[in-house]
Amino acid sequence: MTKISTVDELKSYIAPITVYEDYLKLSAKGRRRLALCPFHKEKTPSFSVDTDSGLFYCFGCHKGGDVIKFIEEIERCSFEEAISILARKAGVELERSGRYNETGGEDGKKREKLLNLLSFAAGYYRECLAGSPEGSPVKRYIREREIPENAVNELQLGYAPERSSLISGIIRAGFTKEEAVEAGVLKESKRGEYFEYFRDRLMFPIIDVGGRVVGFGGRTIGKDEPKYLNTPETAVFRKRDLLYGLNFSRDSIRQEDRGVLVEGYMDFLSLYARGVRCVAASLGTALTPSQAALMKRYSHTVVLLYDTDEAGQAAMERALPILLGQGLKVKIALMEGAKDPDECVKSIGAERFRELLDRSEPFFRHILGRFRARDLGSVEEKLKFLDYAAPHLSSIPDPIEREAFINEFSERTGLKKSLVVEKIDKKGPAPKPSEQPAEEEISLSVSEHVLVKAALSGNNDFMKKLLEIPPKLLDSMASGRLLRKKLEGTYITDEKELKLEAFVKNSCHEVQSVDDIDGAVYSLEKELLEKNRREVTLRLRESREKGDRELEEIYTRELLAIVNEAKNIQNTRFGSLKGD
Ligand SMILES: [Zn+2]
Repeated sequence: MTKISTVDELKSYIAPITVYEDYLKLSAKGRRRLALCPFHKEKTPSFSVDTDSGLFYCFGCHKGGDVIKFIEEIERCSFEEAISILARKAGVELERSGRYNETGGEDGKKREKLLNLLSFAAGYYRECLAGSPEGSPVKRYIREREIPENAVNELQLGYAPERSSLISGIIRAGFTKEEAVEAGVLKESKRGEYFEYFRDRLMFPIIDVGGRVVGFGGRTIGKDEPKYLNTPETAVFRKRDLLYGLNFSRDSIRQEDRGVLVEGYMDFLSLYARGVRCVAASLGTALTPSQAALMKRYSHTVVLLYDTDEAGQAAMERALPILLGQGLKVKIALMEGAKDPDECVKSIGAERFRELLDRSEPFFRHILGRFRARDLGSVEEKLKFLDYAAPHLSSIPDPIEREAFINEFSERTGLKKSLVVEKIDKKGPAPKPSEQPAEEEISLSVSEHVLVKAALSGNNDFMKKLLEIPPKLLDSMASGRLLRKKLEGTYITDEKELKLEAFVKNSCHEVQSVDDIDGAVYSLEKELLEKNRREVTLRLRESREKGDRELEEIYTRELLAIVNEAKNIQNTRFGSLKGD
């Protein structure tokens, strides 16, 4: 595979427009492509991509930049993850030692080293599984759990043997034992001996949305406890920020606009392998706000599918306010007669399982269902149930939906609506879904707009003309730095400048001739002189009031110079034409 080592190089391997097409439905408008903006709600398209430069700008929410910025925004991922995604789409490999992120520094290098080590370990585990004889316990386990062959390959499952040569392999591959400890594949005993963190386990590599292995989950094959073991927290593995399988399933989740949340690796595997692909798994711990936010990148609806035992149901109820707190719509699917999704899909098959998902209920109806099941008769029992339900009610983000559920709740229980409302008010308002700060709107005068557009056109005559702009004027302009870089041919990396460039590229205003540039420079010069004139006049007045004759004289001379310059500009540009 081709190896690349700079962002510039990476961008040259893929037409940006194909990336936008992966996510959006684009329609052509001249050299631009328009789409409904994925970053804000709208009915008519204000999201625009310039086909030449690949720069995007939304005239509704004012997000804009290059294709990497677009991936960062739509995948809500880091710059690092975005370039990994782009590299995968382009079919190239990122050189290990490449410099992609100016701010990456030592930490970036360290991360990169750990990620490479983890990728090496994942390869090692895969080979171990492939090399295990048919009758071996791990192969027997795979057969008994009915794990399909395609899932083993697609999910890149592996095996960490009891006696392994991982340590020597790691060293041969150029890593140190200390690094392997930091990556969480080795551990060090108190006596300074190193041994494997995972032994005799079926290995599930945990891959981030950028496609990199960041850790592992290991299911014991023997009798070892715990049954599932995760990589300890490392510099690249933060359990609370990850959902297992999301790297495989996010496109399906986006397409279906629903994400099924399950508890375990095996639940994920079982559903995914049987074609129910819109699924992700929390990593065997209580759901975190960060995991809920991750899900929300891809879908607004989450279907909870937790184990049907008491522990599973309790975990589900803890997950509810966290999901609702992120502004997600939460539904609950009922699996009758099965203890978990794995068992359920095996017994009823994928098709009927999908029907079961389609029948999933809004979470609150499910809670009311519990009320019915308990058949609460006395007022005390009803009030107790209200206590339990109130926090759930108050965390429903949509006020209309909340109102509807309050009505339904009061009807079903026979408790007065005012009482229910009062209880909810005491619990405080619903937690606000985390909102992104609003993007700064770009405001550029018409004249500056013309100059930037001319600079981006690549037209030689325009460039020659632009080089005549007085440096003083460039310094005074909002787009001065961008214009300078464009005239010098410098590559733009600054986020603000990229956004400005994207804004101008995507606006329909066209520069027709050199005269347009002349006119724009003329009005900007006039504006600048006018601004200076006002400032000097003010100072002149102040010095008069103070009676400072010396200063008064200086400012009078300055003012005269400004008036003369104004006349000059007018004469050189318009000959004998009279101005104001
Ligand atoms: Zn927008």
